[in-house]
Amino acid sequence: MHEIKANLYPCKHCNETGTCTTGKDGASCNACAKDHELRKNQSYFGLSCSACNGIGQAEPRTERINKRVKPVLAMGIVFLLLIFIFALAMAGNRHFPEFLAFAGTLIGSITAFYFTHNKST
Ligand SMILES: [Zn+2]
Ligand SMILES: [Zn+2]
Repeated sequence: MHEIKANLYPCKHCNETGTCTTGKDGASCNACAKDHELRKNQSYFGLSCSACNGIGQAEPRTERINKRVKPVLAMGIVFLLLIFIFALAMAGNRHFPEFLAFAGTLIGSITAFYFTHNKST
């Protein structure tokens, strides 16, 4: 297990138990309660840790950010390209067909990469 999950570190938030007990009197903390979409200012016991999703080991923060940023970045590029296409179409640019072909390929590869990458994880 440990060799495979080399990029995971023991979760400090729950002391590797997977259950959050960092709140008052061993209750689960507000952050975890919020993650479970429960009301604040109320004690909940034995909630699964939101820092590691209850597995006791968490991914390094940078890797998490990478996983979140990549799709956002890809969607941002696609969005920008769509705006460009729209702007060029409105302006009646004579390079529009070339750009459309280029952007179409790019959008296709981005979405293809995004979806295949997403499935494998
Ligand atoms: Zn944890
Ligand atoms: Zn917590």
